[in-house]
Amino acid sequence: MNVICQYCGKPAQFVDSSRVYRKSYGMIYYCKPCNAWVGVHEGTKKPLGVLANAELRRWKKKAHFYFDRLWKSKLMSRKAAYKWLSGQLHKPVAQTHIGMFDVSDCKRVVEVVFKFWRDQP
Ligand SMILES: [Zn+2]
Repeated sequence: MNVICQYCGKPAQFVDSSRVYRKSYGMIYYCKPCNAWVGVHEGTKKPLGVLANAELRRWKKKAHFYFDRLWKSKLMSRKAAYKWLSGQLHKPVAQTHIGMFDVSDCKRVVEVVFKFWRDQP
């Protein structure tokens, strides 16, 4: 499968994830010059989304940190939290996965969750 790096427009390499992590978590598409990568659906060559560079990885972590508190606090179930988020971001539930998000989506997650907590009685 030909996967293009979204940052430089060049084809990414299909390599083992031990290239970027201390141990192997399966295969990834990797662009060395951009320090960007994405995992694949297990047992396939299908990428999980677009390649993420350091900035995007940082934002995804931050979005997860804020969002996960919604369901980890037991305020709502995990499923209900994703449903709520999909409504907030006007995305179909099937596409509401932080793993698939870009930087601006992640920023919106942080924003809507922040507002949610602020508006709690
Ligand atoms: Zn690149």
